[in-house]
Amino acid sequence: MNRQLKIHNSLTRKKEIFKPIHEGFVGIYVCGPTVYSNVHLGNVRTFISFDLITRYLRHIGYKLRYVRNITDVGHLEGDADTGAEDKISKKARLEQVEPMEIVERYTLNFHEVMRMFNVLPPNIEPRATGHLIEQIEMVKEILNRGYAYEVNGSVYFDTLKYAQDTGKYGQLSGRKIEELIALSRENLKNQDEKRHPSDFAIWIKADPSHIMRWPSPWSIGFPGWHLECSVMSTKYLGQTFDIHGGGSDLKFPHHENEIAQNYGACGHAPAHYWMHTNMLLMNGRKMSKSDGNTITPLELITGNSPHISKGYHPMVIRFFMLQSHYGSTLDLSDEALQAAEKGFNRLMEARRHLINMKHPGQGETSEIDVEINRLLDQVYEEMDDDFNAPKALARLFELVNRINALQGGQITFQNISEQTFTRLQQIFPAFITEVLGLEDPITEGENDQAELIEHLIRLLIELRQKARQEKNWALSDYIRDALKEMGVILKDGKDGTSWSRVYS
Ligand code: AMP
Ligand code: ZN
Repeated sequence: MNRQLKIHNSLTRKKEIFKPIHEGFVGIYVCGPTVYSNVHLGNVRTFISFDLITRYLRHIGYKLRYVRNITDVGHLEGDADTGAEDKISKKARLEQVEPMEIVERYTLNFHEVMRMFNVLPPNIEPRATGHLIEQIEMVKEILNRGYAYEVNGSVYFDTLKYAQDTGKYGQLSGRKIEELIALSRENLKNQDEKRHPSDFAIWIKADPSHIMRWPSPWSIGFPGWHLECSVMSTKYLGQTFDIHGGGSDLKFPHHENEIAQNYGACGHAPAHYWMHTNMLLMNGRKMSKSDGNTITPLELITGNSPHISKGYHPMVIRFFMLQSHYGSTLDLSDEALQAAEKGFNRLMEARRHLINMKHPGQGETSEIDVEINRLLDQVYEEMDDDFNAPKALARLFELVNRINALQGGQITFQNISEQTFTRLQQIFPAFITEVLGLEDPITEGENDQAELIEHLIRLLIELRQKARQEKNWALSDYIRDALKEMGVILKDGKDGTSWSRVYS
């Protein structure tokens, strides 16, 4: 296969052929969570999307350095850059604990949720508070190069100078400088300190009530939110790296300002490709805490929410999220989850069947053989086309039909060469676990046990049937009652006898 990976670059708004800076290597930075509350499902969607992207890049042979930060300072309420309270500080004040206790608690929660959804950890997970020295150094650099100015102990980035020198302020978010001015004029305090309303703070002097504060050449204060990502991406990936990602709500102001800062400090933009994941909705509306249209990962798993009829396994939720392209919005609803559960179970069942099949040898190349090979190629072609997981899944489901037909005897092994079958047996299960990150909730051992129990009960049902034919009512009742003792209830119907398990 002669393949080419294409990525939708938010910076150019085009799908582009991916060319890494160093052949075989990818440097990728993704904005991580602000750890002041439990991670919500929207965050989960974004991190599952980047998990899929990084898993696929590794799968096709790239060596990755994946950096995803933890924001533990500087992210102010309402994404403001001055005048508002730090989200972590506020939570610490309300609970009367140290800010770092808040950070620890919610970082732990974030990691637990990521593990639950089988999101692999990044190679480096740096924290903003661990990089204060580097942040101060970058502020100095931006000041030295004339792209920032100090007023009363705070330092502001000069957006007008950047816009005039490069014409690029607003390039990522598609906003015009005039709009940015109008926007930022509306609701900012300390406006008088800025030369230009769209300027933003990179170092903020702390007022006496502010508990998260560090000494700097300008004041005792704290860094602006956008600065940490410029600093940590540069530190671990270099001044120019391959991919920068985050949710689409971060395009402005966070990423737009990050690009400006990197230009101010190093004279060029940080990343070649910008990737943005789209938002999670619920029942057609933006998932939002303020109007109750929200559900937590735990509620979704336990079923403890008025929005859903039952709980869903984390792998079903992951599968549900992979059924839409990362760049489209995704609408969560009970019906969609139920459909996802059916699809997931079908996929996993076929995977189990396939793993346990053995080619008897002597198969021949046929139409079906060609078809299986084509579908396997297409799985990769869909992923190469901007990580199109829903389309790759559609190809996998076409393969599910072939696997089930093989299992049911509608297709015989004679129609498939051993080589093709080996390829199917290698790619299909590995793609599901390695790339899609979907683990089978039923382990092999459990599956064996379940099959054995099914066969044993079927055997007892047959023996009871025989006893009834011979009018040996004592034996047939004995089998039924003994099974009932064990909690297995037999039910006679017109299609034969079925069984179910009751739990006391
Ligand atoms: P935050 O903790 O708010 O800084 O967000 C962490 C990541 O989750 C960022 O990349 C956000 O863009 C992303 N994110 C936040 N809300 C949503 C949502 N409703 N759907 C998808 N991604 C989101
Ligand atoms: Zn960031």
